[in-house]
Amino acid sequence: MPDVNTLLDLIGNTPIVQVKNMDTGPCNLYLKLENMNPGSSIKDRVALNIIETAEREGKLKPGYTIIEASAGNTAMGLALIGKLKGYNTKVVILDKMNHNKILHLRAIGAEVVVVKSDVGPNDPDHYIAVAKRMAEETPNSFFAGQFSNMSNPLAHELSTAPEIYNQLDGNVDAVVCGVGSGGTISGIGKFFKEKSPKTQIIVADPKGSIVKASVEGKDTRDIPGSGWFVEGIGEDFIPDTLNLSYIDKGYEIDNDEAFKTIRDVAISEGILGGSSCGTLIAAALRYCREQTEEKNVVTFICDNGEKYLNTAYNEEWLKKKNIL
Ligand code: PMP
Repeated sequence: MPDVNTLLDLIGNTPIVQVKNMDTGPCNLYLKLENMNPGSSIKDRVALNIIETAEREGKLKPGYTIIEASAGNTAMGLALIGKLKGYNTKVVILDKMNHNKILHLRAIGAEVVVVKSDVGPNDPDHYIAVAKRMAEETPNSFFAGQFSNMSNPLAHELSTAPEIYNQLDGNVDAVVCGVGSGGTISGIGKFFKEKSPKTQIIVADPKGSIVKASVEGKDTRDIPGSGWFVEGIGEDFIPDTLNLSYIDKGYEIDNDEAFKTIRDVAISEGILGGSSCGTLIAAALRYCREQTEEKNVVTFICDNGEKYLNTAYNEEWLKKKNIL
């Protein structure tokens, strides 16, 4: 029998590589290649844990439809795993997300509902509210609920974090994460606070998002909760799955810095990352250059850049958005 029977066997255990050609100050900067997951993002781990936990708890049964609100990557993980396990998947996606994600989801048979981005978190037309309502109205459905389902951070506490710890022989000084649902940073934060308290947990937050200010205990009422063009991170509310107490420090990264960085990574390292990685790597580079001694710093290539060739890597699009 082969070692790998289905794509499910390929989720997690992603490789880690060191940045070689960029200025990382006195530090070693490592990138964990989450784009190597079969759904090409970090969210495959979460989708798998949400689905398998719901199966064990009897909330997800054969013939059911999985419903979720997503920036696209969780949807991809759910649709892929759902397909292999025999579930239908229906996802609600914001119209500001790259159209390639929608085409990819439809290509593998997911039902995609596109909704408007410019509605506040308390609006009944907000994408999470729409998905919740859809789940209530669909018989034999399961709402994955990545923003409130604790299987999300747990996936990272149990897989992503120990992988990083082992790949660096336990010598990790800082991990830099973005926040969409907060699952990555909260799961990784919990693991390292218990196993390696010296490890600093750092958030890379797009300008306009409320996460960094929330970490600092500041008033967020004047922050718009919008204005960034990277996808998958940045928030206008604090999800239940985000535990701010694990975060030591934050960096605010604007559109110019994020998109410049992701393009620099492609040129310097040959890695074509998704748009959120520009924010993460920009923050990681700032942290590295501020240090006065050698440290091991880890961040992520959260997803694959091919789906952003028409945006992040396209001069015309950047010009239209007035970036760079
Ligand atoms: N990067 C990308 C590209 C994503 O799609 C997501 C998830 N929306 C994240 C980062 C953030 O991960 P989390 O939901 O765990 O905060």
